[in-house]
Amino acid sequence: MHKILVSSCLLGAPVRYDGSGQQLLHPQLIAWQQQGRIVAFCPEIAAGLSTPRDPAEIVNGKVITNTGDDVTPEFQLGAKQALRLCQQYNIRFALLKESSPSCGRNTIYDGSHSGIKVVGMGLTASLLEKNGIKVFSEQQMPALVKALA
Ligand code: SF4
Repeated sequence: MHKILVSSCLLGAPVRYDGSGQQLLHPQLIAWQQQGRIVAFCPEIAAGLSTPRDPAEIVNGKVITNTGDDVTPEFQLGAKQALRLCQQYNIRFALLKESSPSCGRNTIYDGSHSGIKVVGMGLTASLLEKNGIKVFSEQQMPALVKALA
């Protein structure tokens, strides 16, 4: 059975920039967990960033915090580690948290730190997709279930 890479925060881990989780209470996700198919991963924590941390957004291809720090190298490292994990477990599907500068699949924040979303992908979602791993957001569970069927 295929394993699925899942953003740790969607499993309730308190790893988001503000120290919270954002658990996705979906019966299918719970079933996959019970089947041992879930590989939890947070690219930002894996890259050594702390929780809580300053929120970051993508600006002209770089990842910049709201205090002006360039954290692009950490975000790139987290993306590479996610890819390595997928390769290690032969993972072809990922369920990642929408709008994150790492995990966002369809939207990201526009870089102005004012809460505006635009079409785009986070660094991890983008690297995984470029390497043939199908990425879905938590808003696309039916599509992920169908893809795995
Ligand atoms: Fe969740 Fe991804 Fe952000 Fe980690 S990097 S807190 S897994 S959205």
